[in-house]
Amino acid sequence: MRYFIGNWKMFGIPKSINILKKINSFYSKDKNRRKYRVIITPPYTLLETYSKYFKKKKISIGSQNCYHKDYFSSNTSAVSPYMIREAGATYTLVGHSDNRIEGDTNEMLKNKVDFALRNNLKVVYCIGENKTDKKNKKTFSVLQKQISKVLDKKFNKKNIIVAYEPVWSIGTGKLPTKNELTITTLHIKKVLKGIFKKKSLPVLYGGSVDGNNIEMFREIKEIDGFLIGGASKSSKKFIDIIKNYYR
Ligand code: PEP
Repeated sequence: MRYFIGNWKMFGIPKSINILKKINSFYSKDKNRRKYRVIITPPYTLLETYSKYFKKKKISIGSQNCYHKDYFSSNTSAVSPYMIREAGATYTLVGHSDNRIEGDTNEMLKNKVDFALRNNLKVVYCIGENKTDKKNKKTFSVLQKQISKVLDKKFNKKNIIVAYEPVWSIGTGKLPTKNELTITTLHIKKVLKGIFKKKSLPVLYGGSVDGNNIEMFREIKEIDGFLIGGASKSSKKFIDIIKNYYR
């Protein structure tokens, strides 16, 4: 199974659902549709309406983050996994670099994953080294830490997907080489296997993916799918990625 996840970040108003309707219409008729899943993470403001609309359709809806406590609390602006699930969403991203930069610690991220899973959300756990880590050849140790400090062997691994997003690649057009990406993905899978035993979890790549460079990624069979930011805000660009992946 492959995954194409669109992260809308701070984009979208109610009528932007038309973008998703076009993607859904392509997805429902695509001859390859059984080989992959499409998940879109719009902002919190759209979770309920979009989740209701796509409930019986192909696209799944997720949130971009969740709070590290599970129910209600006195924290202004916080949205808990319970509230997200009640709004109808079925996935959540956790640990996106935008949120790590804003202060998410490993302890908070562990609670987020735990509470999201307990509230029946599937988790897309984001990891990735920054430019300095890469320059100092710390990529493997940073990734190892981000995984082992947050993903607990007691978690239900069937509901966790890992997204490897090198921070220096997000929104920059800069990509890892095919070789770099292959060995890093294999490293991530090895670390995950050490925690969860048996089969590893799906590992996606995220960072400047588009309809042209997807050609390079599809040759790396270790990658189980993609987390797509900028290109997910256009139905054409998003569909082109899927079409070119299966060409
Ligand atoms: C992201 O923000 O998760 C992302 C991958 O963005 P982009 O595709 O725009 O690099």
